Amino acid sequence: MNDVELAPDQTAQLAETFGLLADPTRLSIVVLCLEREIAAGDIAEELGLSASLVSHHLRLLRAARMLRAERRGKQVFYSMADACVRDVLKIMINHLFVHDHDGSDEPDEGED
Ligand SMILES: [Zn+2]
Repeated sequence: MNDVELAPDQTAQLAETFGLLADPTRLSIVVLCLEREIAAGDIAEELGLSASLVSHHLRLLRAARMLRAERRGKQVFYSMADACVRDVLKIMINHLFVHDHDGSDEPDEGED
C-alpha cells in the first residue's frame, strides 16, 4: 500500500470513520469490545450509561462495520467486526501509553 490515492468521497468516508472514534463514549464501547464479546447490557453497566444511549452508539458502530452483533437468547453480544479496527486501536494505544518516545523516531529537521 504505497501510493495511496483516495477519491474525495473516500477521504470523507475515512474522516467519518475517525470521527466515530473521536467520541469518548463510543471509544470506550469499542475498547470494551477489543478483546472479547460483550453483551449490550454489560457495556451499559460497565460504563455506567443508560441502555438507550449505549444502543444508540452500538447502532452507529455497527453501521460503520466496526462492531458486529450476535443475538443469543435474549442478549445481543458485540465484538470487533474484524481485525482492522482492532489493530488501529492497539497501535494507537501502544503509541500513546506503551512504547517509549525518546524522539529518536522523529524525523530530523532539514534532512531527508
Ligand atoms: Zn509511536
